[in-house]
Order: sequence, then structure tokens, then C-alpha cells
Amino acid sequence: KKRILSGIQPSGTLTLGNYIGALQHFVRLQEEEECYFCIVDYHAITLPRNVEQLRENKRKLAATYLAVGIDPEKATLFAQSDVSAHLELGWIMITTSYMGELERMTQFKEKSKEAESIPAGLFTYPSLQAADIVLYNATHVPVGDDQKQHLELARDLAQRFNQRYGETFVIPEPMIAEFGARIMSLTEPTSKMSKSSLVEGSYISLLDDLKTVEKKIKRAVTDSENEIRFDAVNKPAVSNLLTIYSSITNKSMAEAEEHFAGKGYGALKTEVAEVVVDMLKPFQEKYEYYYQSEELDKLMQHGAEKARKVANETLQKVRDTLGVGFTN
Ligand code: ATP
Ligand code: MG
Repeated sequence: KKRILSGIQPSGTLTLGNYIGALQHFVRLQEEEECYFCIVDYHAITLPRNVEQLRENKRKLAATYLAVGIDPEKATLFAQSDVSAHLELGWIMITTSYMGELERMTQFKEKSKEAESIPAGLFTYPSLQAADIVLYNATHVPVGDDQKQHLELARDLAQRFNQRYGETFVIPEPMIAEFGARIMSLTEPTSKMSKSSLVEGSYISLLDDLKTVEKKIKRAVTDSENEIRFDAVNKPAVSNLLTIYSSITNKSMAEAEEHFAGKGYGALKTEVAEVVVDMLKPFQEKYEYYYQSEELDKLMQHGAEKARKVANETLQKVRDTLGVGFTN
């Protein structure tokens, strides 16, 4: 069995990109593998957050995980901040990191561009992410394309630690899907769809009302010429719509292209909107239930307990290896 770990930040309402690039795979993976799914709230505070909003986003994310079908009996679902071992090992992974390698992270470069003064946590974020992963001896990390570089770094840090102090960590492998690993913005198809984006029409929120979803897809930009085919370089907008369609319907790209052969952009948008709406409708009903329910709180507490057991065991081993502390 593989050991899977993946996390999502409670930094906004989840988008269709998060669903296709992450959640959809998680639901499948929990059937076969040993899965740990995390709400990475300590990552979310690397940029300043409004407290009420963070509280709400955290609950929204938990309800989203449950509503897409993550089953807390099959997978371990928990919040990072409920397992203090993340921060302890996070510090240790920071001491294992070099400035130069952290400076090369594109997400840091992108996100620090917008900040007036750059928070130190934004810089050391990938070191904490490495800790999140090795804490559970994860063998595989399913991520979208945007997280590939961070995962490479996590591997480097785990290897460096092992070389310095002796075999301690499992070296995690990335799992990146061939299609759907990078869903693009609907208004600017050369940049990725992001939940923290400020451009309303650029993303589809999983909680958008269904009329709005339809409108956003119909207003999505398209490319010149009329042919519907997958060509991410020359036809990024149409390719993005095709990717959404094929990911949700579980069709191959070839099947999707064949399905739309001879049809126009209008038909493409109508059908993409249809499949997205059909997927969202039952999701949103379950979401409403979980968001309100006390069951959610109980499930998250239960998940935290399960996660703590595994994480504390690893942390204990690391403390021994490092030679710190008196109370191991
Ligand atoms: P933020 O803008 O706050 O960073 P985000 O939308 O990038 O939000 P994350 O919490 O950083 O979301 O990532 C959650 C998961 O969703 C990760 O596995 C990431 O690889 C995946 N993901 C994020 N954006 C996309 C996208 N546009 N297409 C496919 N997968 C994505
Ligand atoms: Mg992100």
C-alpha cells in the first residue's frame, strides 16, 4: 500500500481547479491506499489573514473534503494545527534548508511580489510543507503541477537530513496527473486558476450558485479559429475547457476531442457548463449539511487523534536521532 499525504490551504473557497487537480484524485485514492488529508492552516497564515475569515475557511474546507466524498473511516482527515508535531518538525526542516534553494521557489517569488514587506513564513513555507509530508512517512504526494517544485525540495531536504543524521525519513514521490494538473484561469488562460485570485470571473468556486457557474463558463475567453482540439500552447483557453470536460466526465482527451469534432465554441461551453453543474449540484447539497453539522467537529477531532499518533511517533524518532531534549 502507498502512504499518501496531501494538504489544502484554508485560504478561500475551493475552486474547480482544486477539485480536478486534487480532491477528485483523493476520493479515488482513499479506496486503495493509506491516505492522510490535511487542512494546512499554518500555511494559510504565511500571508496575513482576517481571523473570522480563516475560521470560516477552515470550516468550509472541512465540509468540502467531506462533501466530495472523503470518508474519515477510510482516510485520516485533520487540521495541521491540531497536530503540534508539524511545527516542531517544521523548525527542524528549516534548519535543514538553505536560503538559496528557498529563494528559487516560484511560488515564493510570485506571492512575495504582491506583499509590501515579505513575511519570513512565506519564505520558509516549503520547509514546513516538507515536514508535513515526512511526518507521515508518505511515499506519494498527489499534487497539481504548481506544487511540483515544492515536492522536489521536500525530497532534497529529507535526503539531506538522512545523509547528515542517518536514515530517518522516507523519500516521497510526486503523483501528478497527465491532464487536469493545472486548470487555468477562465479569463487569462496562461495563469492557473487560484482560490486566492481577486478576479471574480477567473475561477469557478465550488460554492458558486449554479447560474453563476454557467455564466462564468459562457464568458470564458476562447482562442482564435474555430476548431476544438487540445493544444495547450497555441490554444490555451479551449484546451483548458477540454481538460475540465474530460476530467469531470472521466473521458480521455482523445474521446473528448472526438466528442466535440465539428462543433463550435458555443457548444463546447454549453456542454462544459452542463457537466460542471451536474457535478456541483449534489456536492453543494452535501456541503450544506456538513457545514452546519456538529458531526463535522467530531470527525475533525477524531482525525486529529489518529494523525497525532503517527506524527508523534516520527517526531520522537527524529528527536532521538538529533540528540535533543531530556524527556523523550
Ligand atoms: P492559493 O491561491 O491560496 O495558493 P490554490 O488554489 O493554489 O490556493 P492550494 O491550497 O495551494 O490551492 O492547493 C491545493 C491543491 O490544489 C494542491 O494539490 C494544488 O496542487 C492543487 N491545485 C491548486 N490550483 C490548481 C489548479 N489550477 N489546477 C489543478 N490543481 C490545482
Ligand atoms: Mg497554491
